[in-house]
Amino acid sequence: MLWLLLLSSSKNKVFVRDTRVKRCACEQCGHEFEYEIEREAGGKDNSLFSWDERDAFRKAEADAQKNVSKLLDAQDDAVPCPDCGWVQTGMIVAVRRQSYLRLKEVFELGMFLTITGVILPLLLAALFLFTSSVNSGVHGDMTFTLLSVAGILAVVGGVPTFLLWLLRHLLNAAYNPNANPKARG
Ligand SMILES: [Zn+2]
Repeated sequence: MLWLLLLSSSKNKVFVRDTRVKRCACEQCGHEFEYEIEREAGGKDNSLFSWDERDAFRKAEADAQKNVSKLLDAQDDAVPCPDCGWVQTGMIVAVRRQSYLRLKEVFELGMFLTITGVILPLLLAALFLFTSSVNSGVHGDMTFTLLSVAGILAVVGGVPTFLLWLLRHLLNAAYNPNANPKARG
């Protein structure tokens, strides 16, 4: 019973919010400024066993702290230069990278399914070729069918996956805070 209790408590997620001051020299006017970004991340107790709930909480907190630290390292906000209003290229790249993440997930799933869908019949076709006599007509037909399936799956999976990639690319390209000076804030 106690084990069960600890096991279930170890699944509890702990959220940590943290800030980091980033320094920047404006690529447009050279003005140096500081700004603060804030992120929140969850963490959980990933260990197999924790002595008590407090122990589990501490581990989850450390995990969340590690995750939020990673986010603060990798991410950025679009903070306009206080002197000239320019938004740094690196900031725009970072904001784009953290945008439309659901679209990115679906794209990656599409890539995975397409590649798997193409590789499987190809592997089967190779297997048929190696295990059968080359002159056997039945196996030749089978190989041809499998190659056709691979080709069809490549198109059926590849085209929508490419369109997803293109959509995210276009949506991200549309985000350019420097294109409209009035929007600078
Ligand atoms: Zn500037």
